[in-house]
Amino acid sequence: MTSAVSPARALVCRGCGAEFPLAAQHACYECFGPLEVAYDADALKKVTREQIEAGPDNIWRYAALLPAGQDPADRITLNPGMTPLVSAPALAAELGMTGALWVKDDSANPTHSFKDRVVSVALSAAKGLGFTRFACASTGNLANSVAAHAARAGVPSIVFIPSDLEQGKIITTAVYGGELVAIEGSYDDVNRLCSELVETDEFEDTAFVNVNVRPYYAEGSKTLGYEVAEQLGWRIPEQVVIPMASGELLTKVDKAFSELVEIGLVDAPANGWTVFGAQSAGCNPIAVALHEETDEIRPVRPTGIAKSLNIGDPAAGLYALEAVRRTGGWMDYADDDEIRDAIRLLARTTGVFAETAGGVTTAVLAKLIKSGKLDPSKETVVYNTGEGLKTLDAVASLVGPTHTVKPSLRSVREAGLLG
Ligand SMILES: *Cc1c(COP(=O)(O)O)cnc(C)c1O
Ligand SMILES: [Zn+2]
Repeated sequence: MTSAVSPARALVCRGCGAEFPLAAQHACYECFGPLEVAYDADALKKVTREQIEAGPDNIWRYAALLPAGQDPADRITLNPGMTPLVSAPALAAELGMTGALWVKDDSANPTHSFKDRVVSVALSAAKGLGFTRFACASTGNLANSVAAHAARAGVPSIVFIPSDLEQGKIITTAVYGGELVAIEGSYDDVNRLCSELVETDEFEDTAFVNVNVRPYYAEGSKTLGYEVAEQLGWRIPEQVVIPMASGELLTKVDKAFSELVEIGLVDAPANGWTVFGAQSAGCNPIAVALHEETDEIRPVRPTGIAKSLNIGDPAAGLYALEAVRRTGGWMDYADDDEIRDAIRLLARTTGVFAETAGGVTTAVLAKLIKSGKLDPSKETVVYNTGEGLKTLDAVASLVGPTHTVKPSLRSVREAGLLG
């Protein structure tokens, strides 16, 4: 039986440890540090594998480990999750890996990115907190997901994006009919503006999924850790490679693995697990801080085709650094040509067509093997977080028909296609 009570206990400051009640608050009143959901440890320890396995085929099978949505009637959701964990032996062979390689393909979610997970949890929490309008500051996929969730729930939405996003992201958001506001600026400008809007009386009724309800939003990413472990037969993989924008997803996959061990749902792996982070060369502030052995993450003005990852001032960057250092991992970044090549490599070897973020992750996997940072003999999971159809421009000039012939046998023969 799933308990209808949330196991969440409080919001805790990641900086100073101060605790606050479960409300719409995202920064600490003491030190302005970011807040994170803390759970009742005893409640989590009661959760069993059998209970999870008997749950629905989506993220809500983990409701007893999440801060919202325990009662299905309280959910605002498109029921994302339980996306395929694809075995990738051909990609492994091409990269010189002898260990098992898997692609966790989150393009299979309802709006085709991992953002459906975080939005479902954030908006279910927002509903419980009494909000009546949904909003976000987005690099594209988040806007898409918030607009779709709001449409399904019949709740008004207003989403904010940088005006230079890919057509594929704008159309897939606009079609849902909510307000879509393009800001002439970078994502970081959009985010700053939303932080101001959220303080106004006019937006008092509005949940910005990644601003005032961010602690709940962030927890949705844990399901990408739980699912991989469950799909591997309740086992944590030895190595994971994760794309980073704010760095939140990476920290939460690591948190999910820790929780699974703490509450006894998986055995602690003999040598732990190792977390690797991937960015693009056009927006690499977290990876550069790691390379320079500093905790000072210098904001950048993002450029390049991996727009979904273009956060120049990453909110969870410090925590991503901490997770990667603690687990003995590494971070690297890939330039636009490497990203385009990697999108095609992944497609050609696995049948998964990734958006630019998946190209980043695949390209960085290859780099990590080359530099000896990632062990090619260990079991590895790479996360594809988005869908190639949303960023067609990235590869449009590189692919097309391999032949163009007349509709006749002779033409086909002359093209050398009959062998
Ligand atoms: C948002 C996003 C990410 C990264 O999310 P963070 O939690 O901010 O690091 C990765 N991939 C895709 C496709 C995204 O849209
Ligand atoms: Zn604090």
